[in-house]
Formats: sequence, C-alpha cells, structure tokens
Amino acid sequence: MASSRFLAPRKRQNQLFTALLLLFLVLSSVYYITAPDRSADQKYESAKEVPISTITKAYEQRQLQEIIVRGSNVYAQYQSGSYIQSYKEVGDSVATLGWNDAKNPTAVQIDNIEVKNFFKAHLGDLLFFVMLIALGMWVFRSIARSQSTALSFGKSRARIADASEVKTTFKDVAGCDEAKNDLREIVDFLKNPKKYTTIGAKIPRGALLVGAPGTGKTLLARTVAGEAGVPFFSISGSEFVEMFVGVGASRVRDLFLKAKRNAPCIIFIDEIDAVGRQRGGAGFGGGHDEREQTLNQILTEMDGFDKDTNIIVMAATNRPDVLDSALLRPGRFDRRIFIDKPDLKAREQILQVHARNKKMGRDTDLEVIARQTVGLAGADLENIMNEAAIFAAKRGVKSVQQQDIVDAVEKVTLGSEKRSRKLTDKEKSVTAYHEMGHAIVGHLCKESDPLHKISIVSRGFALGVTWFLPKEDQYTTTKQKFLDEICGLLGGRAAEQLTFGEITTGASNDIERASMIARNMAMRYGMDEEELGIVAYGEKQGSPFLGVDLGLTRNYSEEAAKKIDAFVRRVIGEQYERAKGYLTANKAKLELLVTKLMEVETMSLEEFLEIFEGKEG
Ligand code: ADP
Ligand code: MG
Ligand code: ZN
Repeated sequence: MASSRFLAPRKRQNQLFTALLLLFLVLSSVYYITAPDRSADQKYESAKEVPISTITKAYEQRQLQEIIVRGSNVYAQYQSGSYIQSYKEVGDSVATLGWNDAKNPTAVQIDNIEVKNFFKAHLGDLLFFVMLIALGMWVFRSIARSQSTALSFGKSRARIADASEVKTTFKDVAGCDEAKNDLREIVDFLKNPKKYTTIGAKIPRGALLVGAPGTGKTLLARTVAGEAGVPFFSISGSEFVEMFVGVGASRVRDLFLKAKRNAPCIIFIDEIDAVGRQRGGAGFGGGHDEREQTLNQILTEMDGFDKDTNIIVMAATNRPDVLDSALLRPGRFDRRIFIDKPDLKAREQILQVHARNKKMGRDTDLEVIARQTVGLAGADLENIMNEAAIFAAKRGVKSVQQQDIVDAVEKVTLGSEKRSRKLTDKEKSVTAYHEMGHAIVGHLCKESDPLHKISIVSRGFALGVTWFLPKEDQYTTTKQKFLDEICGLLGGRAAEQLTFGEITTGASNDIERASMIARNMAMRYGMDEEELGIVAYGEKQGSPFLGVDLGLTRNYSEEAAKKIDAFVRRVIGEQYERAKGYLTANKAKLELLVTKLMEVETMSLEEFLEIFEGKEG
C-alpha cells in the first residue's frame, strides 16, 4: 500500500512562486526598456539652447541625427555631432511640430517622463517587496520539504491506495462466501450507482465487518476496492486518537475531504472500536473526550454526504458489542457483515491460496492440514504456510513437503519446540506420566475431543503437550462434554499422584482451566439445576461469540456465591476421582505407554492405540 501525501498544495505553492518570479522579471525588463538613457542625459548636458523653430527647421532640412522629446524638453543632435536643446509647449506634439515625416531619416524618440519617474521612484520598493516574498516562499518551502509532518499535524494519516494499486480480488479470499456475497452488492453500488438511484433506492453509506482477529476483515475491505476499481483510503481507529484533543476530529475531516475529491471510493476505518466505543458510559471505555469528538466527527461526516456522494465507508471490528449504538443506526454502519472462522473446506482453500506463491512438493495434502487446524483463522493459516516454507528452506530442499507443513502447524499452534531445554530424568518422567494421564483419560471420556498426539518435548512454557483435535462444526456443548473435558484436564495430575504419590506445580494451568469450565457451567449455562437453578450469574462484559471476556460484574448474593463455589468444588472433585479411576484400571498400560513415550518423546494417535488397544484386545 503506497503511502503518499496529497501533492496538490505543494503544486499550487510552486505555481505561486513561479508567478512571482515572472512578475519580477517583467517589472525589471519594463524598467530597463523605459529607463532614460543616462549617457544621453550626459551628452545633452552641454547642449546649446535654441528656439523650437530652429529644431523644426533643422529637421526639415534633414540636418539632424535624432530628436528626443522628454516631457517639455526637446533635445537634438546635428549630423555634425553637436547638441542643441529647446522647450516645447505642453499642447505641442510630434505631429503638430511636423516631425512625423515618414521619409525623414531623423530618429524621433519620445521618452514618457511620467512612467519613468514612477519607476524611478518606486522600483526600489518593488524590488525589495518581490525579493522579500521570494525569500519567504523559499524558506517556507524548504521547511515544508525537510519536515513534512510539522505542518500537517491535523492531516489524516490515511494510507491511500489508487484504484490501480489495489489488486486484491475475491479470488484472493477463500471461504467466507456469505460475506463475499454481501460485499459483491457493495461493489455493485460503487460501480453502478445509477442502477439503484434511478429506482429511488438509497445507497448505503457504511458497512461494518465483524469477525475475530485474523479472519480477513482488512483483506476483504481491500478486495472490495480492488473489485470495484476505486481508490481505497485506509486508516486505523487508533491513529485518530492522539495526544491532543481535537486532532482526531480534524483528521477525520481531512480524510473525508480527500475522499470526496476522489469519489467514488472506499474509506476503510480499521479497528473502529478504538474510537467507536459507547460514549459517555461510566467505568471501562467511557468518557474519553478525544474519542467522543472523533466519533462525533465521523458521524457528522457520514450524515453530511450528499445523496449522490458515491463513497462507502467500511469499518472493521472484533468488538461489535462495545460499539456506540449511534454508529449502528440506519444511514451509518447499518450493514453488518459477519465473518466466521473458516470451516474445513474454507481452511483448505485458504491454505491453497497461500500455497500459490510457494513451491509445493507433490506429496502435500492440504486437506489433512485443514483437518488439523480446527479453530484457526485465515491469518494463522497464512502463517502456517509461511513457516512451512521457512522450514523447507532451512532444510535446504527445493519444495515444501507435507512434514514441513505439519511441523509448522505445531509451531504455530503450540509454540516452537525447545529441545535445548534440559530436563532432569525425574522431571522428564513426571512429564511423561502427566501427559499420558491426559491422553488415557481423554481417550476414555467419550465426549472428549479425539486424541491427536502426545509429546514431551518442551514448547513455549509447557514441558509437554497432549494434543486433542476439536471436532468440526460444534457450536454447542453438552454438559457431559464439559465434564469430560474437566476429567481429561485432571488426568495429568491424577497420573502424577497415582505414580509418585506427590504432586508438582506442573498441573496449575490444567487446574485453572478445569475450574473455569466448572464455574462457567454454574454461572453461564445454568447447569447446576438443583442448587442454583437456570439462572445466569454475573453480568457479562465481553462478547461470548467472539471469545473475548472482559470479566464479570458481580450481581448475585453471597449465598449464591457460596453455592457456585460448592458446585465447582464438587464437580472438580468428582471428575478427579473419575480420572483416577480410569488410570487405576489401566495402570499396566500407563506404564507401557510412558516407557515408550520416554523413548520416542513424540507419539502419534496410531502409536498410542497400538499399545493401548493391542493389550486390551
Ligand atoms: P483481520 O483484519 O480480520 O484481523 P486480516 O485481513 O488482516 O485479518 O488477515 C490477515 C491475513 O490473513 C490476510 O492478509 C490474508 O493473507 C490472510 N487471510 C485471512 N483470511 C483469509 C481468507 N479468507 N483467504 C485468504 N487469506 C486470508
Ligand atoms: Mg485487520
Ligand atoms: Zn497437563
């Protein structure tokens, strides 16, 4: 995306400068043309005074070289070289004196003394004035050039991409078909506004793209510009918010002004929640003067569009719940386009889009990768393909192999392997029991996500990892699934306790997550029917469907709080016992599996099943 400032003001400045220079040149040349010939003045200093008739006579007899009329003074020079001078009446002209004979070779010259005097008197001032302006302009220009930001503080920082620059089209966006359909309509508004206005339809002003981070909101907005072939003005909400109150508003004004000059076009305000939060609210996110002003300015500008201003304002956010309701009113961002995380097919397509510009090996199967990347957004998938290419390049091979992509998936989802982190043998074996505990318990809980892989190679902060792959297309969760999840999470600690009789700190994250699930069961999903009833406890301040939680406001009694705590403790206790039960029943397999895991460090589902089911059957 090119970042270019508008050149128009600079150009105008240049023109002004040139005009002044020209004026100066014209003035000075006029001066020199009309300036009295000083040598002539000197010549005639010693001239003899004669009556005017003498000059006329000499003229008629062609004895004169030249006659100079300067005001009422008349100077003449004989062919012989001597000078004479005389005075004429104010009413006399060259014609009345008879000095206008075309055949007479005498040069008759008239100096306009008034003009000359004027220039003589004022040229100095004029020159000075012109020079001063020129100097001023020069200083101004050099400041502007060296420090282009100093004078453009209130200017918008919008990045402008010309119609010709935006090359992204719908082909570059895989999946999100509903969103694309909605956007096709917007492309049509920009391309054929007449089609809608003649029938009396009002073209929508704003569209809000809503989706989790990395789902391609920014990409889609650019795509609309690319498809419609119009310029694209993009600015991020946070760029409006500056140190000084009022700057944001003036940036908005500037941005819309530029856009109007370039209509039809698209204005894209990324991360609009930075300015568009609910105004005037108390506590979190409320009462920020600068933001309010900026937001008001955006609303004013959008209301101020003429009926036939062909500008569509697009905005993106992953926090639609915090947006000011004024933004969402009809005539503003009344179109909301939801972009979901990609499903299996979409993930495969996105992977393909990002495989296009890479050398892919013959064995690569992106569908397999798509299956392993449930819940990831487009940006993660792009990242995976890039990491895969980096892995391949590091290995020095010519094309990306399937294994590179598999490694990349692990790196992106779990963090890099840290093989250099040295664990003591004890730590290693505790980790192996812990992870195998998760694996066995998870495997035995019917509702748990299917087991995928177990590893005791450190990654990020984790010493080991047991990897379950979520099933596709699950939008609701049953109570049993929650319980099974809790059970699986506690499996790690259960295995440690059964084997070593002591516990380490390694399970703290598991416990945290298990407690969270249990708490949500009680407070959000009404799953403790006997004690708490089907009631939601705590006022949510996040957007559940985008997975962002800002915390809960407590709006329940002390008694309810006790019941919630009791429920959480009971559920955790029950599931912990259940996990221990599974592991005790499979103690022999646990030992076998741990021995194997210590040896290979990373174990796939197949290897796990070979041992786990082999002995059973
Ligand atoms: P957002 O603005 O929603 O956070 P972006 O539009 O910045 O996400 O997406 C980041 C990158 O992820 C894009 O530049 C693109 O390469 C990739 N991406 C996201 N979604 C898709 C998709 N549906 N198809 C292809 N690439 C995608
Ligand atoms: Mg974005
Ligand atoms: Zn664990």
